[in-house]
Amino acid sequence: MKYEAVFFDLDGTLIGLDMNEFLPDYLAGVQRWTRHLSEDGHFMRSFDAAVQAMLAGGRPHMTNEEVFFSRLMIDLPHLERREMQELFSAFYDEFFPTLRRHCTPVTGVRRTLRRLRSAGYRNILATNPLFPREAVVQRLCWGDLYPVHFEHISTYENSRYCKPHPGYYRDLLGVAEVSPDAVLMVGNDPVEDLAAGELGIDTFLLEEGYLVEREEAPEPTFRGSLQGLERLLLNR
Ligand SMILES: [Mg+2]
Repeated sequence: MKYEAVFFDLDGTLIGLDMNEFLPDYLAGVQRWTRHLSEDGHFMRSFDAAVQAMLAGGRPHMTNEEVFFSRLMIDLPHLERREMQELFSAFYDEFFPTLRRHCTPVTGVRRTLRRLRSAGYRNILATNPLFPREAVVQRLCWGDLYPVHFEHISTYENSRYCKPHPGYYRDLLGVAEVSPDAVLMVGNDPVEDLAAGELGIDTFLLEEGYLVEREEAPEPTFRGSLQGLERLLLNR
């Protein structure tokens, strides 16, 4: 067995979720949820800056969650960080579940994960850590999957970088205690997911259904369907 661990992207890979449809509704939800905080769109500009700060990385002494809230609070000096954390916590409890309509389970994916684990592979959920654990777990459930299917799950609480920053993959190799040549990264985004290749990790571009269009991207080591992935890893 060449690989010891398989890193899986979530959105568009293990669950059917088109970010181009999901994101506008997610952002509209954040805007509605926070509209009492500012009248002129000021809050959404700060929210955007806080997300950009997570994507930029470069503050390795902080988690993505810390980066997000510290950047957000710079523009909102009249608010307390604790209040803001509670507001977002309520948003993920109450509003986020309404976004489920954008998601469809991917046929066979649960069986694939089970087969890989039975064959001795370590399944790790390498979803871009821009969201709290709760929002990742909800999306898994929408796709008929559960945290128990994974040995580790990236979230904004436990990560310091976002894809496609190589620091994200470097940290994940450290957490999983695995060397790059023993990992296969599987995803549907030629930029975010194939960036793992920069560290010497082999990559598998999933071309079914939700392949993200990119003008320039690295070549994957492998490409194909979920069945193709099974054939590769289970010698079928
Ligand atoms: Mg994806």
